[in-house]
Order: sequence, then C-alpha cells, then structure tokens
Amino acid sequence: MLRPILRLGDSILSEPARTVDAITPEIETLIDDMIETMYAAPGIGLAAPQVGVSLKIFVIDLSLGKDPAALHAMINPQFVEREGMQLEEEGCLSIPGFTATVARPKRVVVKGLNRHGDEYTIEGTGLLARALQHEIDHLNSCLFVDRLRGISRDLILRKVRKLAKAGKW
Ligand SMILES: [Zn+2]
Repeated sequence: MLRPILRLGDSILSEPARTVDAITPEIETLIDDMIETMYAAPGIGLAAPQVGVSLKIFVIDLSLGKDPAALHAMINPQFVEREGMQLEEEGCLSIPGFTATVARPKRVVVKGLNRHGDEYTIEGTGLLARALQHEIDHLNSCLFVDRLRGISRDLILRKVRKLAKAGKW
C-alpha cells in the first residue's frame, strides 16, 4: 500500500525515531509499504518517519527496483565506520523540488537488522554511502537542509514557507 510522504514542516520529521523492539506483522507491512512508496515516488531511499512512523527503519534501492540485490531494508541501523569526504548534490522526497550540495563521508559501514531480525552490515561508498547517511539522518530528525550553511538553508526554508502559505506545499 502506498503511504503519503510527509514534507518538511511536519513535526514527525523533527522527532528522533524510536528503536524497533520486535519485528511484528505491522513492521513487515510497514517495510513493504515503504518499498512500494519509495519505488512509486520514485526515490532511492525512504525512512519510516517520512511516512509518519517514528521508528528506526529505512529502505534504500539505488537501482530503483531493477536489481533485487540492490534493495536494502534495515532496522535499527547504526554506523560502524565513516571515513573520507564527498561533496555532491542531494535531494529528499520530503523536500521536493529542492537540491543542494551536501558534504558527507565518502565511505560508511552500517550495521542493523534485516526484516527477519538477522544482523547484517552494509558497506557503501559514493552514492550508497550518501544514501545511508541521508536515511540515518532522518532517524535522528536531521534533514539535508540541516547540514547546509545558514544562507543556503534559510533560502530553501524561506521558499518552502512561501509555498506553504500559498497552499502549494
Ligand atoms: Zn530524505
């Protein structure tokens, strides 16, 4: 089932997500819905708070559904390693229409649970490293605009406020 994607300004996006205690049928349905919603958007990643559920879960698929091996659904992720630096353009399904250059580590290793409750790790460089950090940021109530310098951040926030005022957000 598709779920609506919340946008910047919604309070759930600025709450830290809670740890998942048990993988219930509801959690499995949530993961399936997140994958479907990510593909429909289309996007390469989605975090549970973006669909209004404040839990530590994200899905990522850089292949946009073309390669089953590229799909990751991770519960309670945490960083094991972070190194290097990359500067690339980044966007977010919760801030449609806006992108900015964001500095991120170049390589990360993330540890968490898969949907069956088994621990596994993902190692990512380049775009995968960026996507992993972007989604984990969502779980810590941080959006990409929060990683920008004051002026670039304010510019986006001002435009979003204007759109919201006009009923177009
Ligand atoms: Zn995002």
